[in-house]
Amino acid sequence: MKRLLINNKAKKDLFVKSGNRCAFPDCQQELLVNGNTFLGEIVHIESYSPAGPRYNPTNSVNEIFNISNLILLCPNHHRIIDASPEIYTIEKLKRFKEGNESIFENKPRKFELKKAEINFELNHQELLDLWQENELNDDEEFWQKLFCSNPAILSHILINPIIKVDDKSYLGGKSFDNKGGNIIDFLFKQKQNSDAILIEIKTPKTRLLGQKYRGNSYSISSDISGSIVQLLNYKNEFQRNYYALTDGSENGLKSFHPKCLLIAGSREMEEMDDNQNRSFGIFRNSLKDVEIITYDELYEKIKDVYDIFKKNDNNV
Ligand SMILES: [Zn+2]
Repeated sequence: MKRLLINNKAKKDLFVKSGNRCAFPDCQQELLVNGNTFLGEIVHIESYSPAGPRYNPTNSVNEIFNISNLILLCPNHHRIIDASPEIYTIEKLKRFKEGNESIFENKPRKFELKKAEINFELNHQELLDLWQENELNDDEEFWQKLFCSNPAILSHILINPIIKVDDKSYLGGKSFDNKGGNIIDFLFKQKQNSDAILIEIKTPKTRLLGQKYRGNSYSISSDISGSIVQLLNYKNEFQRNYYALTDGSENGLKSFHPKCLLIAGSREMEEMDDNQNRSFGIFRNSLKDVEIITYDELYEKIKDVYDIFKKNDNNV
């Protein structure tokens, strides 16, 4: 049977609203196991196929794929409800869905993955799954850890090969009482010429745009403009203290023209329209010294690489 697609936004909303648990009363089976295996099944309450259970011919395609018509179940309960549509009616399933969602309505989303669990290099699929699962995770430390234990992620952004020098690097700027120093999230260097790359990470939830300004123009969020200033400060400090910082160290780090990279926000989650996209694009291209990459863009890059590898595997 041809499988119609449920859009990512609807899926994401459904997972969040249901707390990643089976909606069948008292089942509460966790559908994400060990942070990387998803057991859940997305079920249409009213089927889209005349051959399916609970088919309603009056539904439009939009209604069928709307999140209000989707329920998240464990595989067992999916089988049970489909086998007895006369018992598990449309109305009953809607009540199951509402009942389950009301449990999680007021609870903050729980992130299943412990930080310790990402302290190893993940394979591509694990990385993609974990990433998707945490798209709404606003904990900077989580992302810090993920990038830290999987430095290859960052090589997807930069064309030239890079080498990790350090994370949480001190770049100078401390006063005599040891306060107020500048700590950059990641310090890399270009493989070719050892020039430094300063990388600062925020989270996917960091807002990219601010208010509408005039006409079709949007301002940039204060988080983004603040992060850019912060990065440029780091760069200044790094250049100013370069000799003191690298004196006696064997990392071979250079400071010809350090590159600054900011990873923050998600255009997809911010649901930018054309004007917003254009404003963000124009702003980003106008920056000389800082490159901004969003989490959704980075995810796509990793996925592209993964798809290429997968294709190659299939050819073997
Ligand atoms: Zn269940």
